[in-house]
Amino acid sequence: MSVLIKGATILTQNDARQQVHGDLYIEDHRIVQISKKPLSVEADFKIHGTKHLVLPGFINTHTHLPMTLLRGYGDDMLLQDWLTKRIWPVEAQLTKKRIQSGAQLGLLEMIASGTTAYLDMYFFEDAIARITEKAGVRAFLGFGLLDFDTPEFPAAELFPQCEGFVKHWKDHDLVTPVVAPHSTYSCSPETLQRALEIATKYSIPLHTHCAETRDEVYDTQKKYGMRPVEHLKHTGLLRQGMILAHCGWITKSEIAEMKAAGVAVSHCPVSNMKIATGGFAPVPELLAAGVPVGLGTDGAASNNTLDMMETMKFTALMHKNHRWDPTILPAQTVLDLATRGGAACLGAQQTLGSLQEGKTADLIMVDLHTPHLTPLHDACSHLVYAARGTDVSTTIVHGKPLMVEKKFLTLDPEKIMEQAQKDAQELTS
Ligand SMILES: [Zn+2]
Repeated sequence: MSVLIKGATILTQNDARQQVHGDLYIEDHRIVQISKKPLSVEADFKIHGTKHLVLPGFINTHTHLPMTLLRGYGDDMLLQDWLTKRIWPVEAQLTKKRIQSGAQLGLLEMIASGTTAYLDMYFFEDAIARITEKAGVRAFLGFGLLDFDTPEFPAAELFPQCEGFVKHWKDHDLVTPVVAPHSTYSCSPETLQRALEIATKYSIPLHTHCAETRDEVYDTQKKYGMRPVEHLKHTGLLRQGMILAHCGWITKSEIAEMKAAGVAVSHCPVSNMKIATGGFAPVPELLAAGVPVGLGTDGAASNNTLDMMETMKFTALMHKNHRWDPTILPAQTVLDLATRGGAACLGAQQTLGSLQEGKTADLIMVDLHTPHLTPLHDACSHLVYAARGTDVSTTIVHGKPLMVEKKFLTLDPEKIMEQAQKDAQELTS
């Protein structure tokens, strides 16, 4: 398959953050040419880029995709009440069919708002992988591990099932399996170590929640005499290929440990503020230390969208306001987090995160022809401070157009939304 985008403003996000006004040509799954001069090649898809930006697709480094079904179900509640009265009772009712419905809705939302790759952690990941493959989105899918039964498997079956999942998907073009022990408070040291064994055996990433709330830090200290980061180090999980979600309550010395170990952080500002965890990842210090940082939405139950544009804006504003310093995290840095940073978190910076000849064609187009994006002084500023997910007009993953000029090519939006509404009502009634 080939795609030619004509006459657009291309934000390459390469090392020099070069912007090119011109054409971009894709063949199979790679970017073949980015040119200031008009290209006159034939292509299966020819897309007009006038008054459009072209940029790398967003990489969402932390979500629980099927939780789209719980969007808006239990807002404005204390965390413990929300989990025990709303989320956990409903999650116990999850079935493969409902998971598929929620995952499809999430994929539709991500394609519509310019996310081309996501890192998930949940149950029924094999079902999510199959749906994702059909939708054409790139996914790093974390097989959720706990000490107790999941809605999918009894605890005794979790590890063999996880290994089977990893074996099945490990050489796939779009899907990368990930081992995802939920957290240090829901996984014993033995569970953490068994997760590590599988990740090491197959050289795949690890993903876990870490230091999300202050209570979590206190509880881990009480139980193990160590803070969560230290506990992960002690159990061997603080290592290259580990992506830690949140890190809202970490110290400067923990940042040094994280850098030395080679772990990455997924910063989820909207979810942190909505749950009111008080703490959030110290992104300026993490970046200064050289720790890879990406942005995550977290699940739609605690966000309530999967809109990475919104997450970029919250990221910038949260840190500026907190430090009384508008020069902290400029727009370019925040756009980097959502693109290059996400790729670095996932160890995929050689192929994803920027638009360069030879790199994988995961990219989006943003329509600038709208009042809230007029006039245009600085494209980066618009993307972080003014644009919305709904301004994305075209989404291409692995060289394949999934949405062109707002038309979905792999999914049926009406059918998916109708089914999701039905399944969400059934699930919560
Ligand atoms: Zn989460």
